[in-house]
Amino acid sequence: MTATETLLKINRRADFPAIPDGWSYLDTAATAQKPQPVVDAIAQGYARDYATVHRGVYTRSADMTVAYERARARVAAFIGADSPDEIVFVRGATEAINLVAQSWGVTHLKPGDRIMLSVLEHHSNIVPWQLIRDRTGIEIDVAPLTADGKIDLDAMAAMLTPAHRLVALAHVSNVLGSVLDARRAADLAHAVGAKLLLDGCQAAPRMKLDMAALDCDFYVFSAHKLYGPTGIGVLWARPDILDGMPPWQGGGAMIDQVTFARTSYAPPPARFEAGTPHIIGAIGLHAAIDYVEGIGMDLMIEHETALVRLARERLSRINSVRLFGPENAAGIVSFAVDGAHPHDVGTILDEAGVAIRAGHHCAQPLMEHLGVPATARASFGIYNDESDVEALVRGIEKVSRIFG
Ligand code: PMP
Repeated sequence: MTATETLLKINRRADFPAIPDGWSYLDTAATAQKPQPVVDAIAQGYARDYATVHRGVYTRSADMTVAYERARARVAAFIGADSPDEIVFVRGATEAINLVAQSWGVTHLKPGDRIMLSVLEHHSNIVPWQLIRDRTGIEIDVAPLTADGKIDLDAMAAMLTPAHRLVALAHVSNVLGSVLDARRAADLAHAVGAKLLLDGCQAAPRMKLDMAALDCDFYVFSAHKLYGPTGIGVLWARPDILDGMPPWQGGGAMIDQVTFARTSYAPPPARFEAGTPHIIGAIGLHAAIDYVEGIGMDLMIEHETALVRLARERLSRINSVRLFGPENAAGIVSFAVDGAHPHDVGTILDEAGVAIRAGHHCAQPLMEHLGVPATARASFGIYNDESDVEALVRGIEKVSRIFG
């Protein structure tokens, strides 16, 4: 099948009310636009079905509780978890990693222990561990990258020691689109007795997920990159690990019994969901998963693969463009234009109706590694097609003329 046939088969732009004709939205790695079924589910959640969960004795609240817990079960099925109890709703990937760091990290890490990150991590998979390092006295090691921008697992294998308690890596890089061989990372981590945390922010919308096949210990992602709402995300962890983790925030809904002398805690996942949750966020995430699975992840992967291939091929013909990342990147293309600051690239593209991201993408160590202060990044979703790539290329040709 040619790239064009694949693209024509799946263009779902009409489902996205916030994408007007003539606007090329190429910033899906930052956040995805929302399809009408997700907008409708959120609107109905507030306009028709709304009540609190887990507390009300009245029918509306009981129904809302069923819907909230159904969303949890939907997430569990989507990522191949064994049970909805393995799914903790959080604010997003950032909160999920902070939760693991503050709860699992503080109880399991001690001076002399080490953890392994990589050069391409998002700040949200760096800074929470630095906060824990400063509290516990652990050391952080950083796995290097291959020449084409993948995490170098051979090099990581040589760096891992029995002192490593955790390996925490991006499943897909938000800058380079490089895909981790997650199964090998799990084998390497487990061989030295370390746990593996995968940051699945960019993978959840771009890969079929199966927790058993990945063999990781923690998996995190944000709903808003998966065509769902902001303010909700997922922490999955192996049930035995979750069971052994203490609460990280206290409040309503996470307790068993409270007295001033002593409080006992609810089992997971409630133990980690203090306070009134983002009820309608969960409903919106459920609708987003239904939408994505309605299209089919295989088709979405084919679609984005074709768009990345087309974009890299067309951009590489422009002399002043330098492409970063591997040829087979997932949905994301980072690049620089000789003589032009990425912010200028972004501004000129904006004037041409093309929205890209320009900056360090919350990955400053990766920028340092690439030797640039920032990159321009185009990232694709199911509403994009070859006309968006053509608009991008026309814009970059203009940038080249101005700065060349
Ligand atoms: N990790 C990666 C790879 C990401 O792309 C992002 C979002 N840019 C995050 C973590 C953080 O996600 P959020 O801001 O939704 O918590």
